[in-house]
Amino acid sequence: MRRSNLALVLRHVRDAGPRSRARIAVETGLNRGTVSSLVAELIDRGLVREGVVERGGSVGRPGQAVELDGRGIGGIGVEINVDYVTAVVLDLTDAVVFEHRVALDVQALPADAVLDAVTELAIRALAACDEQDITAVGLTLAVPALVDTDDGVVAFAPNLHWKDVDAVGGLRRRLDRKGFAVQVDNDANLAALAEFAMGSRAGTADLVYLTGETGVGGGVMVDGRLLRGAAGFSGEIGHMPLNPGGDLCGCGRRGCWETMVGLAALLRMAATPDDPVCDPSLDLEQRLKMLSDRAGAGDPRVLDALTLVGEALGLGASILVNVFNPRVLVLGGYFASLGDHLLGPMLAELHARVIAPDACEVALSTLGFTAAARGGAHVALEAVLDDPTLVALRHTP
Ligand SMILES: [Zn+2]
Repeated sequence: MRRSNLALVLRHVRDAGPRSRARIAVETGLNRGTVSSLVAELIDRGLVREGVVERGGSVGRPGQAVELDGRGIGGIGVEINVDYVTAVVLDLTDAVVFEHRVALDVQALPADAVLDAVTELAIRALAACDEQDITAVGLTLAVPALVDTDDGVVAFAPNLHWKDVDAVGGLRRRLDRKGFAVQVDNDANLAALAEFAMGSRAGTADLVYLTGETGVGGGVMVDGRLLRGAAGFSGEIGHMPLNPGGDLCGCGRRGCWETMVGLAALLRMAATPDDPVCDPSLDLEQRLKMLSDRAGAGDPRVLDALTLVGEALGLGASILVNVFNPRVLVLGGYFASLGDHLLGPMLAELHARVIAPDACEVALSTLGFTAAARGGAHVALEAVLDDPTLVALRHTP
């Protein structure tokens, strides 16, 4: 009972922001004395702290506000992508305390070797936590795949060439840390959760996230909740068949949206195969910068490619907007890096095809290529919000 009340107060302060004990009592339905005792324990666990004095509130006398702390708690997110793995550590306030990316040709390696690399990166993240006196509570792996989140199995990752890989079991064995939660989820789902928690349109209850990389993924937030579907496989928007009979997709089908707007499609149209922008051993952000510079300089081939991709992006996005009626559509991955050049043709196509007036706002993600890893770290921290007693008491006087 006390544990669930601790969780209730902690989550309320995180979601609703700094507020007085009196206000927490009114808003949670707990009595004032109970709230004071719970807050004292949360302070002792380093999860909340005394903030500024709240004046003129509608409830009770002015009082010291209680605000989220959690600087000593870390959640780790690790993203596996086609040509890199990234780790991010967030504290309970979602501040980044560690970030590192390693280039890795994932398609050329067996799954075991990739999990070895993920483990190495996780160990670096854990060491960074130790150095900063941060207790790491868990890790979430983000994978561009259909994921069975209950069993921790990557069922199918077309662009990684993975099928039925026990990612959570494999990582648990390698890390061998007791009381450390490990889970796996789809990368675009986690990125959508990151946008909802800490992106430029955070808190927007109806939000669709779209990310363009080698694969094209999406995550749909409806009424503040991630839409998962019956088996947890929703959001596979990259495989909407928008050009049946078109190019072959990584999933084995033809004409998926991904074959029109994925990174490979853009590069094929924008450059010759021997062009450095097509070289996967170079850093992706560097390659995208080269494309952006060429577009800025008026390179006709690059501009034509961006226009075609932008139009195809608007075509697919119009289906999502017609189906889900989101308040905002957030573009991530390379769609955000090259957004300045993609948005014009995309919005023209989108507005022409969306049936409802005032089609939703389209925003570029500010989380860059770390959105999925950040979402993973954020989700790993949920363990503490569900059970604040996971964090030890400090026995302050
Ligand atoms: Zn496909």
